[in-house]
Amino acid sequence: MVRRQELLSEAERTLGGMTRSKENFPDPTDRASLESDRNAMLRIRDRERKLIAKIDDALKRIGDGSYGSCQECGSPIGLERLKARPVTTLCIGCKSDQEAQERRQRV
Ligand SMILES: [Zn+2]
Repeated sequence: MVRRQELLSEAERTLGGMTRSKENFPDPTDRASLESDRNAMLRIRDRERKLIAKIDDALKRIGDGSYGSCQECGSPIGLERLKARPVTTLCIGCKSDQEAQERRQRV
């Protein structure tokens, strides 16, 4: 429980720091560029984290011999597709199924 409280107050401090640092830049242009810099940084970090996870996963699949096979239907993904997207886990058919499903869920 103590640990949890530490984390919470840590999060509050971080948020407080973010708010305060905004106040240090009264010029709206500076503030906007600081804001977009930070958003860009967060987006990049997020993308990097996801890509690293995908690469780790691909390496694991190379290790256990399942790399290059579709995780959905088990058929070979295809060399051209792997060359274009080395971290993909789905063959083109399953990928477009998945995308169609995601589109339906968004509606
Ligand atoms: Zn498939």
